Amino acid sequence: MSARYDVAIIGTGAGGGTLAYALAPTGKRILVLERGDYVPREKDNWDTRAVNLEGKYNTKETWRDRDGNELHPHTNYWVGGNTKFYGAALFRLRREDFGEIKHWGGVSPAWPIAYKDLEPYYTRAEQLYHVHGRRGVDPTDPPASAPYPHPPVSHEPRIQQLADDWARLGCRPFHVPLGVMLDEANPRTSPCIRCATCDGHPCLVYAKSDAQVVCVDRALEHSNVTLLTGAYVKRLDTSPSGREVTQIVVERNGVTETYAADVVVVACGAINSAALLLRSASASHRRGLANGSDVVGRHYMGHVNSVLMALSKCPNPTVFQKTLALNDFYFGSKEWEYPMGHISFVGKLDGDTLRAGAPAIAPGWTLELMARHSLDFWLTSEDLPDPENRVTLDREGKIVLSYRPNNEESHRRLTERLKSLMKQQTRCSVHGHECHEGLFARNLFLGQRIPLAGVAHQNGTIRFGRDPKTSALDVNCKAHELDNLYVVDGSFFPSSAAVNPALTIVANALRVGDLLKERLR
Ligand SMILES: Cc1cc2nc3c(=O)[nH]c(=O)nc-3n(C[C@H](O)[C@H](O)[C@H](O)COP(=O)(O)OP(=O)(O)OC[C@H]3O[C@@H](n4cnc5c(N)ncnc54)[C@H](O)[C@@H]3O)c2cc1C
Ligand code: SF4
Repeated sequence: MSARYDVAIIGTGAGGGTLAYALAPTGKRILVLERGDYVPREKDNWDTRAVNLEGKYNTKETWRDRDGNELHPHTNYWVGGNTKFYGAALFRLRREDFGEIKHWGGVSPAWPIAYKDLEPYYTRAEQLYHVHGRRGVDPTDPPASAPYPHPPVSHEPRIQQLADDWARLGCRPFHVPLGVMLDEANPRTSPCIRCATCDGHPCLVYAKSDAQVVCVDRALEHSNVTLLTGAYVKRLDTSPSGREVTQIVVERNGVTETYAADVVVVACGAINSAALLLRSASASHRRGLANGSDVVGRHYMGHVNSVLMALSKCPNPTVFQKTLALNDFYFGSKEWEYPMGHISFVGKLDGDTLRAGAPAIAPGWTLELMARHSLDFWLTSEDLPDPENRVTLDREGKIVLSYRPNNEESHRRLTERLKSLMKQQTRCSVHGHECHEGLFARNLFLGQRIPLAGVAHQNGTIRFGRDPKTSALDVNCKAHELDNLYVVDGSFFPSSAAVNPALTIVANALRVGDLLKERLR
C-alpha cells in the first residue's frame, strides 16, 4: 500500500501528539503513525501490582547495555507515548539552562535558542496541558508572560508540614506545576479525583493531561488527520540525492506498508528516534539518516536521578504526594558553587512498588511498613552530554544503550543537602505523641539510584544547533542534511537541565508547529 500525505508524524507522545494537535486545524492531510495501541481502560490502570511489579504496560522489547547484557527498558509504546504514564510535573527549563553553565563535572552547553524564544510556547503549552501552579515562589522560576492557567494543587497535611519546615529553615519550597485536571473548588465535578496512582500509571478517568487525551484525541476530531496504530516505522528511505525522505516503511499487522509525505516528522522518543535514523542508513547517508556529523545517537542524557525514602516513626498518610518541590540548590549554594539540582517527590510508594525496585529493607521494617512511613523524594541532577553515552544498533538491529553517569558529585551534594534539611524538621504535630520521639533522631534514609533501564527522561540524541558539524538538526529542528525531515521529541536537547523534560518537548513541538504551518501554507 502506498499513500501520500502532506505531513507524516511518527510517534504520539509529548512531541508527536502535540504536533498533531497543532497542525490538525490546517486542513492538511496528516498521517500519524504510532507503533502502540490505545492503553486499555481497565482497573489494572490503577493497580500498583499490575503496573509497577508486573510491568503490565511496559514494552517487552529488550535492548542491550554497552557490555552486551540484556536490558529491559522501562518505557511505554502506546498512543500518548510516555505521557500516559508520566507524573505530569510540567516545568519550564530555567532561563539560565539555555546558556552555558559550568558544572562540577564539566560544561552544560548553550542552546541555539534563548529562553525568550520558547517562552510564548511554554505559556501555550501550560494552557494546553492544564498546568496548575503559582509563579514567583520558586526562586529559580523564569519570567513568564502569563500566570499559570490553574491554581496550584494543595499540599496534604504531612507535605504542608514539611513545606513549613523548609520555609522555617530559610528555603523557598513551592508547589510543583502539575498537568492534572483537578478542580479543588468543585470536587463533585472535578475530572481528577486526586488518587494515589498517578505517577507511573495511566489515568483511568482521563483526567491527566497526557498527549493522547489533550492532543491526539482532539486532533482526530479533524477529518484530515489519520492515525494508524500498531504501525512500527522500520526505516525512512530517501531520494537518490539523499535530500528528502521519499518513503516511510512501516510494519503493521505483520505486513510491510509504505507511505509518503511532503514533510516527515520523527517523534519516537530520544532513543527510538535515534535508532530509526541509524536504521535508515543508505548509500547517501552511510552513517545513518541525517548523520553526516556523526552525532545521531550520541550525547544521550537521562538525568542523574534517585529516589530517596525518608522513613520515620510517624506514618505518612499522604495520598497525592507529588505537590512539593525545592529548587534552592538548583544553581548551587554558598558552600558549593556548582549546580546541584532539583528536589521533589515521586507518587506515594507502596509495598508492591517497592518490591519492584527491590530496595534494601531497613532493619525491623517490612516493605509495606516502610511504604506507610516514608516520604518518597525524587532527586534530579543534570547529566552532561558525553559523546560516548550513546544509542547504537547491534548486528541484529537491536538497540544498544551505552551510558556512564557523570556529574555525580553534584547529585551526592544534593542528597546531603536533603538529609541535612530532614534532620532539622520540627516535631510532628499531626500524629500525636507517638511521633515526636523517633521522627528525626531515628530517621533512616535509603537512597536508590535509578538504573540504566530507567530511561524516563531520555533526551539529547539528535541535538539541534547552528553548526552542521556538531548537530544533526538546525534551529528549527529540521535535519541539516534533508529538506523535509524534522524531529520534535526529546532528542533535540543539547543539555538536559535538571527539571523534568516534557513541557519543554511540548513547547518546542508547538514552536515547530508554527514553523511548519508557515511552510505548508
Ligand atoms: C513513569 C514516568 C514518569 C514521568 N514523569 C514525568 C514528569 O512528571 N514530568 C515530565 O516532564 N516528564 C516525565 N516523564 C518523561 C516524559 O514522559 C517524557 O519526557 C516524554 O513523554 C517524552 O516525549 P517524547 O515525545 O520525546 O517521547 P514519548 O512520549 O516516549 O513518545 C514517543 C512515541 O513514539 C512511539 N514510537 C517509538 N518508536 C516508534 C516507531 N519506530 N514507529 C512508530 N512509533 C514509534 C512510541 O510508542 C511513543 O508513543 C516521565 C516518564 C515516565 C516513563
Ligand atoms: S484521577 Fe487525577 S491523580 Fe488520579 S491518575 Fe487521574 S489525574 Fe492522576
